[in-house]
Amino acid sequence: MATKLKEESAPTPMMAQYLALKAEAADCLLFYRMGDFFELFFEDARIAAACLDIALTARGEHEGEPIPMCGVPVHSAEAYLARLIKAGHRVAIAEQTESPAEAKKRGSKSLVARGIVRVVTAGTLTEEALLDSRAANWLVALARVGDRFGLAAADVSTGRFELSSVAPNALDAELARLSAAEIIACEPADGVEAQLRKSGFDSILAERRLKERFGVATLDGFGSFDRATLAAAGGLLAYLDEVARESLPFLQPPVARAADAHMMIDAATRESLELTVSASGTRAGSLLHAVDRTVTGAGARLLAADIGAPLLDRAAIEARLELVRLFEGDGGTRDMLRRQLKALPDIGRALGRLVAGRGSPRDLGQLRDGLDEARRLHDRLASLPDRPDLLDALLPALTGHGSLVDLLARALVPSPPIDAANGGYIAEGHDAALDDLRATGGEGRRAIASLEAKYRLETGIAALKIRHNGVLGYHVEVPAKHADPLMAADSGFTHRQTLAGVVRFNAPDLHEQAMRVGQAGAHALAAEAAHLEELIAAALHRTNEIAAAADALARLDVAAGLAERAAEGGWCRPSFELHNCFDVEGGRHPVVEEALRSSGARFVANDCGLSESERLWLVTGPNMGGKSTFLRQNALIALLAQAGSYVPAAKAKLGLVDRLFSRVGASDNLARGRSTFMVEMVETAAILSQATERSFVILDEVGRGTSTYDGLAIAWAVVEAIHDRNKCRCLFATHYHELTRLAERLDALSLHHVRAREWKGELVFLHEVAQGPADRSYGLAVAKLAGLPPQVLSRARSVLAKLEEGRAATGGIAAGLDDLPLFAAAAQEEAAPDPLHAAMAEVDADALSPREALDLVYKLKRLAAEQG
Ligand code: ADP
Repeated sequence: MATKLKEESAPTPMMAQYLALKAEAADCLLFYRMGDFFELFFEDARIAAACLDIALTARGEHEGEPIPMCGVPVHSAEAYLARLIKAGHRVAIAEQTESPAEAKKRGSKSLVARGIVRVVTAGTLTEEALLDSRAANWLVALARVGDRFGLAAADVSTGRFELSSVAPNALDAELARLSAAEIIACEPADGVEAQLRKSGFDSILAERRLKERFGVATLDGFGSFDRATLAAAGGLLAYLDEVARESLPFLQPPVARAADAHMMIDAATRESLELTVSASGTRAGSLLHAVDRTVTGAGARLLAADIGAPLLDRAAIEARLELVRLFEGDGGTRDMLRRQLKALPDIGRALGRLVAGRGSPRDLGQLRDGLDEARRLHDRLASLPDRPDLLDALLPALTGHGSLVDLLARALVPSPPIDAANGGYIAEGHDAALDDLRATGGEGRRAIASLEAKYRLETGIAALKIRHNGVLGYHVEVPAKHADPLMAADSGFTHRQTLAGVVRFNAPDLHEQAMRVGQAGAHALAAEAAHLEELIAAALHRTNEIAAAADALARLDVAAGLAERAAEGGWCRPSFELHNCFDVEGGRHPVVEEALRSSGARFVANDCGLSESERLWLVTGPNMGGKSTFLRQNALIALLAQAGSYVPAAKAKLGLVDRLFSRVGASDNLARGRSTFMVEMVETAAILSQATERSFVILDEVGRGTSTYDGLAIAWAVVEAIHDRNKCRCLFATHYHELTRLAERLDALSLHHVRAREWKGELVFLHEVAQGPADRSYGLAVAKLAGLPPQVLSRARSVLAKLEEGRAATGGIAAGLDDLPLFAAAAQEEAAPDPLHAAMAEVDADALSPREALDLVYKLKRLAAEQG
């Protein structure tokens, strides 16, 4: 009994190996390679079976319990990995690191050695199947030193590597811009969902590692980095080492990203403006979707990056706009460019796979085709007259790849396979020895084919066939009823296998030819593999040049795509002024316009004119009248212009915007966890503390998340604060008509409304923005439009009449507000000490006589009574 128990609790050698690997994999799911499957055990198996919807089985026992298990076939593992990664898991891949034959050499019962070769995580993917070709895939490491956050961001699928450092209040915007697939940090940061890691976050060590990695004596050539940034970079490199194991992922030299080189756009603004995803979580319905006419994955990724980080440098914006202008004005060149780009493979990502050691012959084929096409494009574009500076800066990256392209063209077949294992990717004529091996193999196969006829003749069995399979190799197969003569000892055939209906044999000359074919094949495969290695090395020798070509092609695609969009929608080139103006004629909302067009409706264009003397527009009007649309379209125009795009307007003269804010009253944000009104107030507070005179703010129905009185009071105070303190350009939409009274006191505030009309008892929205306040709110008309039952409507009408009577008598809920001191005066008033305190402060207690002390008590009591 005792021995039995012992047997049960001692894990089998395989289980012991598994458990050791699992301990190493820690919080990852462990894919344990067994033959043609990756198997998962224990809790991993339960999690994966549920997530992948595959059968959970059991195998053997561990500590007296059956071991839960599930598995996925190796050949389709990518699709399963994709689902696990999407569901937020990380997966460690344990491969067999020796062949069964090698294991056997060590001892007849030795277990095949296995090791973790890679950890697959959301932020470190390179596989085409696991990535969205039109989106970047960032891994971000975050480190705090003092009051700076350092960010190191890498997209190893294309090698982009950016370093930046931001103040704590800008962290949210920076992370929102990157929208990382995975974040690691050495300590928890407020509101950031990050995996905590300790190793590598050391600025001194990091500096050394960066220098080593990029082969430089100093980092000065890349920019200057503070300690927080270096620490983050160190954490990033350590994490990449950990997940990629022996193969170093692709990192281009780091780009120092100055956080103040870009328009600051925080997460709430990105969400509310639906920049890259719509409110319903899809790409369709987002700004990006409405603007994106790029034809390559790399172009789409760059456009998303541009829209996510509009520029602040006027010269850089103009440079982008000049390139768009070139293609906008020359439809022929634009069409040619877009047609050529469309056929282009994604060389940036092919390069990423090659650098990471996961490259295939097909990736080399993509480099060959892409770089060849790049040269052709270069020649077409270089002959254009009046080339913008940016084009001249991009062109050199497109050429100079000739010798690599020639080498790959000579060496590779036209469409090389993804899988190198079966060979067949090296072209004929590249290597005479390989050609000989192939010829030998071919001759052998032909000889084998001719043996079939010979054997038929010799045996008189017309149904005799020579076949090939993985187990027997080449063999002779005859129907069972003809097998007897071949079974005879002197037949010249050796029996190998009897199956239902057929019997299989070997024969000496067949064996000889098969050996010849087999050997030639194995040698040819080895020769191809050696060539593959050389070709990859030749390509990697030019890593930076290829990456530059990929970037240049992406920039051309973005410019041509924006030009296409501008031409399609009649967009205009924005111009920039030095003062804080915002002057748009005939502005439109690209997403709403597109949606309306598809339903056959027309979008009404509207002007918007903000200047230093009229910086705040208060927009009133009925619900559904078009207020939100108007606000957003102007924010989007500011953003698109600084991203280097034409804008949906007839004319746009803009002063650069340093920070963009968009907030929507609480009831539109129900999806969030916190109290919605709380969210609204937190976000509004962020604007009041961060908006500068160069900022652009849109506030939509702020204050509606609470009761009428509270809401009006808050909206009132927010408008005053924006006007008096932030002094930024602002569009403020509200249904509180009472706010219009502010126009009398706030001189840079002006009133506007969206027009609506009641026509034959029906409400008609004109969607026109006009001067002055709305004459009425049309709430009941909107309710009628929405289908509120007639009884309810008529009851509402009587209640409204009663309320309006009350308003007429008392002056309404905002009565008396005009008498409130101005914002600045009110702030001062709050700060002034009350008389009781003032009197106390004057008293020198030590100098008081008893009589004076009694007088003082009377005086204080009197003051207290007056106050009240
Ligand atoms: P509000 O914020 O005043 O409630 P919205 O901006 O949400 O109104 O607009 C309501 C609807 O009116 C939109 O969904 C759109 O279909 C339509 N609309 C808004 N602006 C325009 C416009 N300028 N031209 C045409 N239709 C518009």
